[in-house]
Amino acid sequence: MTLEDTFDVVIIGAGHNGTSTAAYLAKSGLSVCVLEERPECGGGQETAEPIAGVRIQPHAIANYGGSAPGWEQLELWRYGFRMDWDPRDTVELNTDRYIFTRDGLSKVTEKDMMGWAKISCMLAGNDAFRDLMRATFWCPPHPAEVELDEYNIPFMQVYKQYEPEVWTRELLEMTMFDLMDEYLDTEPFKVTQAYIALSSGAHGHMEGVAIPAMCSSATVMPPAIAKPVAARGNMHGYFHALFRCATANGAVFRTCCPVEEIIISNGRATGVRLRDDSTYGAKVINARKAVISASHIKHTFLNMIGPRHLDAGFLQRISDLSLKGGSLFMSHYLTKEEFRYREKYRLPPPNDQFTGAFFNMESREIYFKNVENVLGRQENLTLSPDEAMWGMVAASLYDPTNPQCTRPGQHINGPLWMMVPTPEYNVDGMDAMDKENEKQRWAEFMRASLACIVENLDDDNLIRMFTDSPFDQEMRNTGMLGGSWYGIRCDRDQWWNERPLPELSRNRVPGIEGLYLAHQSSSHPGGLCLMAVAYNLMHILIEDEVAEPGDWWYASPWYIPTPGKRSAHGWT
Ligand SMILES: Cc1cc2nc3c(=O)[nH]c(=O)nc-3n(C[C@H](O)[C@H](O)[C@H](O)COP(=O)(O)OP(=O)(O)OC[C@H]3O[C@@H](n4cnc5c(N)ncnc54)[C@H](O)[C@@H]3O)c2cc1C
Repeated sequence: MTLEDTFDVVIIGAGHNGTSTAAYLAKSGLSVCVLEERPECGGGQETAEPIAGVRIQPHAIANYGGSAPGWEQLELWRYGFRMDWDPRDTVELNTDRYIFTRDGLSKVTEKDMMGWAKISCMLAGNDAFRDLMRATFWCPPHPAEVELDEYNIPFMQVYKQYEPEVWTRELLEMTMFDLMDEYLDTEPFKVTQAYIALSSGAHGHMEGVAIPAMCSSATVMPPAIAKPVAARGNMHGYFHALFRCATANGAVFRTCCPVEEIIISNGRATGVRLRDDSTYGAKVINARKAVISASHIKHTFLNMIGPRHLDAGFLQRISDLSLKGGSLFMSHYLTKEEFRYREKYRLPPPNDQFTGAFFNMESREIYFKNVENVLGRQENLTLSPDEAMWGMVAASLYDPTNPQCTRPGQHINGPLWMMVPTPEYNVDGMDAMDKENEKQRWAEFMRASLACIVENLDDDNLIRMFTDSPFDQEMRNTGMLGGSWYGIRCDRDQWWNERPLPELSRNRVPGIEGLYLAHQSSSHPGGLCLMAVAYNLMHILIEDEVAEPGDWWYASPWYIPTPGKRSAHGWT
């Protein structure tokens, strides 16, 4: 006999999106069970301690969530969320920023900063900036019946209200480079912003996603937030607060519980079946109201549902979804001495500490060379170390009272992240970067690239490097196909109403009632924009009478209800 258990909602996967959804639903008074395959929750928001006293971040590092309604709605401060800075302190919009190129440092100009402030609505005030971010990420896609145009796309409405001079129909066709060419000044600044977008969300060179790309960078960079790594305990510390919020409201988490099958009966998802060796006594977990998959879209449809319940054409389109969003190779450096910049990269006082860098940001030519290699030819990089683009946070960016390395006389810097082909598409095979010699070659390549700006990376100083390839990231995290933070390609075809397929963009699965999607690979806007997937999904669950949140809830002002359904606007 198979033991069974029953909850209102069953969620597959305790990564960031499964857990934030659990927090929202448990706070709405539902009984929620979250099933996680790994022994630990957190998914890609993980901090690891590979040797005692040394903390590293194998995936998430930066807080992309400044404008999320979830900070207020889930009240994360009650559950231990802390920052390294006081949010009441103003962060100046100044030109005291330098960009790393092969020739040395390029200073950001007044025109750069003012142009950036204009297009990101910062000049129009805090509310305008927050609204632009929320309109872009924290708002569910419109219903399929609504024909999108320049008057109803949420971010266009924000420009119209706060920055009418920026508003033009062409915004919907532009690349982020086109937009920056109109408003900014120096090439290295533009290239840096486009590179941050490339490694954070919609790509800086893709047509039609200029605003989502610009917002991907604006939501994580100063002055919008004081510093990207301000969450105490890193992004896993933030995850702890989410997890505590969910459990304090009654959600149940079960680890070492891989879901093998989503049970579908008469066209309705009624629960899940766990693998026989899972640690939960019950092997069938029933869902009275909904099953939510916060696991990868391909895994969800191809493995956990399978062809019996799905149209063959639909399944083929799921198989064909492109994961060519690029992946990140991460590395950390444990040294005896602190890093020293080479002479031409020494910052003028008082900014003479190594806080990290973006290199090599000198030109679009370099940007496209990297893009061609990573997203075009999809092979191990054929660039020279001084041409490779990367970003890095350094030890001194963390709060000194909460250092990443507590070993006396030792320092950890990192991660350094470099965009590389997604393993599934590497022309030399899935493990092209992971074969024994290749891995060493990669580590040396990244070290050589970092050594372009840091002068003491020699063997005498370097104690150890910790590297983490995209394939390693997949091994650490069963939900992370492609080792990618977005899990799919980040162009117009897979954004907002198109993501991941137009008929799935409002999180429902046509033909299977009671089944919803909440993974970074299956939902708008995907990874990074913290709590956005859960917040957007809540609108849909309210419409479907699954969730009935209290008066702490507010819907996105730009959300359009599905015709014939209950509205998520002020329904309480
Ligand atoms: C290299 C890298 C750098 C990143 N940097 C940042 C950053 O700086 N800031 C930031 O905010 N984000 C960052 N991210 C993205 C962030 O990690 C993701 O956005 C986030 O992890 C997505 O959460 P998720 O819940 O959708 O998916 P995941 O984190 O993938 O979680 C899915 C969970 O589901 C579980 N699971 C899968 N299948 C099953 C099953 N059948 N049964 C049970 N459990 C299952 C998995 O084990 C996993 O725990 C980065 C990601 C990567 C790869």
